[in-house]
Amino acid sequence: SVVTRFAPSPTGFLHIGGARTALFNWLYAKKHGGKMLLRIEDTDRERSTEAAIGAILDGLKWLELGWDGEVIYQFSRAARHREVAEQLLADGKAYRCYATAEELTAMREKARAEGRTRLYDGLWRDRDPATAPSDVKPTIRLRAPQTGETVIEDQVQGRVVWQNENLDDLVLLRGDGNPTYMLAVVVDDHDMGVTHVIRGDDHLINAARQKQIYDAMGWALPNMSHIPLIHGPDGSKLSKRHGALGVDAYRAMGYLPAALRNYLVRLGWSHGDQEIFSTEEMIAAFDLATVGRAAARFDFAKLENLNGHYIRHSDDQSLVKMFEDVLDHVPGRSDLKAKLNDTTRTQLLKAMPSLKERAKTLIELIDGAYFIFADRPLELDPKAAALLTPENRKLIGQLHSALENVETWSAANAEEALRAFAEENSLKLGAVAQPLRAALTGRSTSPGIFEVLDVLGRQESLGRLSDQAK
Ligand code: GLU
Repeated sequence: SVVTRFAPSPTGFLHIGGARTALFNWLYAKKHGGKMLLRIEDTDRERSTEAAIGAILDGLKWLELGWDGEVIYQFSRAARHREVAEQLLADGKAYRCYATAEELTAMREKARAEGRTRLYDGLWRDRDPATAPSDVKPTIRLRAPQTGETVIEDQVQGRVVWQNENLDDLVLLRGDGNPTYMLAVVVDDHDMGVTHVIRGDDHLINAARQKQIYDAMGWALPNMSHIPLIHGPDGSKLSKRHGALGVDAYRAMGYLPAALRNYLVRLGWSHGDQEIFSTEEMIAAFDLATVGRAAARFDFAKLENLNGHYIRHSDDQSLVKMFEDVLDHVPGRSDLKAKLNDTTRTQLLKAMPSLKERAKTLIELIDGAYFIFADRPLELDPKAAALLTPENRKLIGQLHSALENVETWSAANAEEALRAFAEENSLKLGAVAQPLRAALTGRSTSPGIFEVLDVLGRQESLGRLSDQAK
């Protein structure tokens, strides 16, 4: 059965490209009733951090891309990696290389000057180790084939061919006994029973090198898929401004995990012109054979629109919950967090049908709900302040009296009272609603005014009106 893996290096956050790689691995595993394993490639001890590991695990959990089994930490498997290097050595498939740093530098310079991609000249390939200098700690190098071709039949890239004369005898074990990335990946993928490797196409050349290790061990190469990287909208390398951010940043910008997943799956993969996919539909439709070869372009506007769709189609109760959760991830909103209680939650729920129609992100949702959390007396924005002329403040006083008489507080009854008031005073409803809105919300735009009255309730509404009345 199918086993995929997501193998991030914990040297930074879970970036958007990594999230898409995880999603593709997850979808492929789910589609085939298989497993997705998670391997943290923490062999670079200097650059790997606990914080990055935390961010990767959190990001995957938030995106609901769960992995199967325990997390595998690559560094903890170093002894096994060494064992394989020793075995290749014993089998004559690898050899000890005693080249000094100076010799290696000279080799590289010569190769570059001659325009060769093979940098190591085979100095110790056939040399007698008895002649080795005693002060050099040897590396172990693969005795790679020198003629012929290394071929990868990639599900996405097609057939990719390398001339072996261009590939180096790669280092498997460093002088200090530490395994190289190339060796560790092969041994781990083999031991974990990985059947499908799905990763960014920046690893395509590594696939050729890794294939040589598989061959030397007599192991079967997993099925390979190298997916195109994500580029900026103009086709250039994805920059921060164009979306090269951590998944946590998308969370803080108020995107829903389902929307982000839906957006990411369409980056490089398509299924006719269908744009919206439920998780089940995604799993059913996903296929590596329809992943394109061209770089995908990241488009914030598309992501926003998709997110707006997901917000509009979320139920109100879940949106209140998401509203609450996202506050922990948005800097500077602890004030709102402190104001969440049963009353404000109920108000939020009541306002949700109208709030969600206007919001493309949870941040916009928070912004739209500002009037619920505003403290009395309200701070007025300049437009609201301009609306509250002395004359209009008198009007607010009259409206206060008119609304005070509403017996059962509701949007409909408030509307009836306001229409009656407007009629009696020969005013247009808009002439009443605008100052009213300014007094109730401190701004010149808000959800419908009757709804605002309903959400705020009698006491708070009348209180806000008396604050501004003259
Ligand atoms: N650790 C590698 C990376 O984060 C991925 C290696 C692989 O998928 O084989 O780019």
